[in-house]
Amino acid sequence: MYGPSAALLFKVLSVSWSLLLNMNEPKTIRADLRRSLEVMSHRNGRLVGYASREMIDFSSNDYLGLSQHPAMKEACLTSVMEWGTGAGASRLMSGNLAPYKELEEALASFKGTEAALVFGSGYLANLGVLTGLCRRGDRIFMDRLCHASLVDGAVLSRCRLRRFGHNDLDALERLLKEDRPPSGNKTVVVVESLYSMDGDPCPLVGLLELKSRYRFMLIVDEAHAIGLFGQGGVGLIPRSMAPLVDVHVGTFGKALGGYGAFAALGGDLRQLLVNRARSFIFSTALPPGVLASNLQGLRLCGAMGRERGRVLSRASWLRNRLREITAARCPGRSQIVPLVVGGNLEAVRIARGLARRGIFARAIRPPTVPEGTARLRFSITALHGREDLELLLEALGDLL
Ligand code: PMP
Repeated sequence: MYGPSAALLFKVLSVSWSLLLNMNEPKTIRADLRRSLEVMSHRNGRLVGYASREMIDFSSNDYLGLSQHPAMKEACLTSVMEWGTGAGASRLMSGNLAPYKELEEALASFKGTEAALVFGSGYLANLGVLTGLCRRGDRIFMDRLCHASLVDGAVLSRCRLRRFGHNDLDALERLLKEDRPPSGNKTVVVVESLYSMDGDPCPLVGLLELKSRYRFMLIVDEAHAIGLFGQGGVGLIPRSMAPLVDVHVGTFGKALGGYGAFAALGGDLRQLLVNRARSFIFSTALPPGVLASNLQGLRLCGAMGRERGRVLSRASWLRNRLREITAARCPGRSQIVPLVVGGNLEAVRIARGLARRGIFARAIRPPTVPEGTARLRFSITALHGREDLELLLEALGDLL
């Protein structure tokens, strides 16, 4: 039925497929970088059940403890009873339920922007924003420590991506001068307002000053700043400066205690994303219960000034104590307290030692952080007590 050339083609395809499968076999993943999926038997915000024990969780981004708040659960349950468990379709089909409108209006007023657009997750938001707003020929200049979702979005956009040294405005300015896009194309600068693995902020004022001179589009991911910084937890971009940033990305999965994400931006850019962002167009809308708890999280966050203050002062206390007891680098000034130990296996050894002492903190290794900067990353949340931090310090004192 098939000629010899079809048989040959079939053979070539099956050999390449099996080679591809072999390449992806777990045994080829370097031992010091291998990850495994651990099961948490339960979680109540401060504690997680892991390996048949209860441990203090220092790996959660639930910074304000909102995921456990009774009003969040109530909002979710009420919405499920009214709307059901799923949205049933993408937003451009019949999934654009009324709670979306309410949530997006609340987001725009929270961030001080004209409009907002909700996405399925922060990963999908960054993919959608970069692929939806950037065109082939555009230049994307991105901080070297930006999150994988921003890198993936830039790669998928097929623009020219150049990375500049972390928070190095001189390096960015050099790129702006030397790599101008062809006429009709634009330059897009991408940063995070608070970097997720070092816990340090971007130089916002300097970036805005460069923007006024070089006229680029500025995209700022506020994933880790929202809820912790600024008036009402707005993040590191004050509302008065909001219009100077073209796109603010935020997620609900961290301090806001829910799931999903958003871009806060001008009405025209929102309209462009609705028509062009494939991660928005071709994906089922978020379940209504999730939308309702996200809205509740946004409302509760505004009044949590006391919790914000407590989280940040506890984190700074921990960072100072760590700097006293270890020579390891402990950068940042936020709720994220990294302890950079360098070697991958050393980070794993410390994480295991902590687990034996009832402390859950993951070793963070490449590609999440650059090679040679493996670390423990301690997230301080409103649910941690001073005694939890003391226990952590004592354990680290033994292990380092
Ligand atoms: N941006 C940053 C800076 C992040 O740290 C993360 C998650 N770690 C994301 C985006 C992705 O957000 P989500 O978890 O909602 O997909």
